[in-house]
Amino acid sequence: MAVIMDGKALSIKLKNALKNEVDELKNSGVNPCLAVIIVGNNPASKIYVNNKKKSCEELGIKSLEYALPEETTEEELLGIIDELNKNEEVDGILCQLPLPSHICEKNVINAISPEKDVDAFHPENVGHIMIGDYTFLPCTPAGVMEILKEYEIDVAGKNCVVVGRSNIVGKPMTMLLLKENATVTVCHSRTQDLASFTKQADVLVSAVGKPNLITADMVKENAVVIDVAINRLDSGKLCGDVDFENVKEKASFITPVPGGVGPMTIATLMKNTVTSAKKKVK
Ligand code: NDP
Repeated sequence: MAVIMDGKALSIKLKNALKNEVDELKNSGVNPCLAVIIVGNNPASKIYVNNKKKSCEELGIKSLEYALPEETTEEELLGIIDELNKNEEVDGILCQLPLPSHICEKNVINAISPEKDVDAFHPENVGHIMIGDYTFLPCTPAGVMEILKEYEIDVAGKNCVVVGRSNIVGKPMTMLLLKENATVTVCHSRTQDLASFTKQADVLVSAVGKPNLITADMVKENAVVIDVAINRLDSGKLCGDVDFENVKEKASFITPVPGGVGPMTIATLMKNTVTSAKKKVK
């Protein structure tokens, strides 16, 4: 049976270390501050924003929340971002996605100053990730890399398969694995015979959003399986893409959902906020 990789425990360890850094920053007169914008009433987004606020409180990072109504115009939202870009108190700006359909996500992402873009979604920061020279870590993929490091899983020379190619998870995940010398294959909705790829994976990362997409017969014996997805079933229960109960019998390591990658995403966001605040130390 696989070792269950405890992202929750690791996130607590990382946040404890970050808390010390926040205390040191405060002693030198710098108060880290994260601005979080949420537009509309998406229940999942509200939970994510509350978890981010809670982590800020735990670490002593000031959080400014902008809970805007669904009918907020793009112009209004861009106006708030412009103010936050200019506000010297603010170290990080995060606009929770998805946005209502009348607002162009690309315009919003591009409007956040790359210097305060703690989600690392701005094309300038994406470019830095592409060339492996970055200040802000892509939160979810960097969280996955921390989990691998904690469990001493070296991806160099391994066959890594990433299922999903989104700008926020799949693509940056590919870049971080490449940086660590993995051989990476990226699969997506147009991939034919997904199982033929996943069966080759020494390390399989699934970031799709479809319960039971990855079944035990699709996984190589002793593979490391990382489940990034967060799906809510009709019963209210959370699950990932992986058939956890059966795959854990075959894999050597596996992340659970919840309690795997999710908490590490938030820990990395906190780390990026602290990194940004450190620039103020004279
Ligand atoms: P997107 O919907 O943006 O991307 C999903 C990807 O999955 C796409 O590349 C899509 O392919 C691919 N895909 C869809 N169906 C299949 C299929 N049948 N076989 C193979 N690939 C398929 O999602 P995100 O990347 O934003 O998020 C992915 C999951 O991760 C979601 O469940 C989300 O909730 C979760 N998530 C979790 C986080 C965490 O902290 N743990 C953080 C962010 C996201 P194509 O490009 O061809 O459409």
